[in-house]
Amino acid sequence: MKTYDIIIIGAGASGIFAAGRIKNKSVCILDAGATPLRRVAISGGGKCNFTNMSADYKHYFGENPNFTRSALAVWTPADMLNWAHNHNIKTFEKSPGQYFAHDATDIINALLKDANKTDIILNTNVLSATKSGNIFEIKTNTQTFFAKHLCIATGGISYTNISSGDIGYKIAKSFGHKIIPPRPALCGIKTKIFDSNLSGISTPVEITINREKITDNMLFTHWGIGGPAIYRTSVRDINNGFTINLLPNCDIENLIKTTKQSNGRRQIKTILSQQMPEHLAEFLIGKNTKNIADWTNNEIKKLAEKMIIKMAPTEFELQKFDSAEITRGGIDTTNISSKTMESKLCQGLYFIGECLDIAGDLGGYNLHMAWATATAFAKNFE
Ligand SMILES: Cc1cc2nc3c(=O)[nH]c(=O)nc-3n(C[C@H](O)[C@H](O)[C@H](O)COP(=O)(O)OP(=O)(O)OC[C@H]3O[C@@H](n4cnc5c(N)ncnc54)[C@H](O)[C@@H]3O)c2cc1C
Repeated sequence: MKTYDIIIIGAGASGIFAAGRIKNKSVCILDAGATPLRRVAISGGGKCNFTNMSADYKHYFGENPNFTRSALAVWTPADMLNWAHNHNIKTFEKSPGQYFAHDATDIINALLKDANKTDIILNTNVLSATKSGNIFEIKTNTQTFFAKHLCIATGGISYTNISSGDIGYKIAKSFGHKIIPPRPALCGIKTKIFDSNLSGISTPVEITINREKITDNMLFTHWGIGGPAIYRTSVRDINNGFTINLLPNCDIENLIKTTKQSNGRRQIKTILSQQMPEHLAEFLIGKNTKNIADWTNNEIKKLAEKMIIKMAPTEFELQKFDSAEITRGGIDTTNISSKTMESKLCQGLYFIGECLDIAGDLGGYNLHMAWATATAFAKNFE
C-alpha cells in the first residue's frame, strides 16, 4: 500500500484549498461524502460569501481569538479576492467588503482545478488515526491509508444532514489535545418572549452583549428570533444574556412628548408604527387606544423602556446543531502552532478549518479562516 506524503481528512473548504496550494508532494484527501465541498455548495444561499475585507482576530470567537492572527496575515482577504479574480470568478460586494460569488459552483470548480493533482477519495468514512514510528495509519470503512503527514480538516458538527460526525475531535483527543465543548452558532434563538404572531416581521435592532453593540436586522419567527442580528449574537459569549433595543434609531420618549405638545389627538400606535412594523407596535402597546394627550409622562417613560428587551439566560435557548451554520468550540488551539497549524503534541499532525476552536462572525469570516489556516498549513511544504 502506498504511503502518501500527506493525507488530509475532509474534502471541504480548508482541505481542498490546502491541497491546491501544495506542490511536488503526493497528497490524498479522504471524505465520507459522495461529493467534495458540500458546505461550500450551499454557502451564502448558493452564492458563497467567500471572504470579508474586515477579517481580523476581532471577528473570531473561542478561547483564544489571537490564534487567528498569523493565518490572517499569511492569507489576507485581498489575497482571496485576487485568487477569485485570477480564476475568473464573477464576484459582488453585498455590503462593503463582504464578497460573494455569483454562483458557489464557480468557487467549487476553481478549488477543484487547483487541487487536480490530488487523489480525492470520496465515500470513505475515516474511523481512526494512529501513528507508528513516523507513519500515520488511517483506518476507514473501506481500507487503511498511510501517510507521513496527517491533516485534520473535518469541519464542525453543525448542519447535521451534511456533517460526517466528530472524528476530527476524536483523533485530536487520541493524540492528547483538549476539546472545547462544541455548541451551535450562527443560528436562531428560541424564546417565548415574543408573540408568535409576529412571525415573518423583520426590524432593525441594536443588540448589546457585554460591552459590544451589534446593529443589524432581526427576524421574528414562530419559535423565537433569527436574522443576521441574532446569528451574529449566537456566535458570541451570551451566557450572561443580552439586550435587544427594538428602536435603536429613535428617542421614542422625546418624540412622543414633542408630538403630545404639537398634536395631542394622535394615537401612540400611529407614532410607533411610523418607526417600526405595525404589528410590533401593537404587540408593545396592546389594545391601548388613548390619544397621546391622555398619556402621562410616566406612562410614556414606561413605554420607552419596553423597547429594550432584556434576554436573561433562562429566557432563551440556541437552536440545535441541525440548523446552526457553524460550530463554536472544537479542538483547543493551545497545543497547536498558530504559524504552521502543526500539533505541539505530535509531529506531522495538523489541524485546519472549522474543526478548530475558532468560530467566525457572520459575513464570510468562516470560509476565510478555512482558506487562511489551509494556507498556513500548506506553507510547511514549500
Ligand atoms: C448553510 C450554510 C451556509 C454557510 N455559508 C457560509 C458563507 O457564505 N460564508 C462563510 O464564510 N461560511 C459559511 N458557512 C460556514 C462554512 O461553510 C464552514 O465554516 C466551512 O465550510 C468550514 O470549512 P472546513 O474545511 O473546516 O469544513 P467543511 O467544509 O465542513 O469540510 C469538512 C469535510 O470533512 C468531511 N469529514 C468529516 N468527518 C469525516 C470522516 N469521519 N471521514 C471522512 N470525511 C469526513 C466532511 O464530509 C466534509 O466534507 C456556511 C455553513 C452552512 C452550513
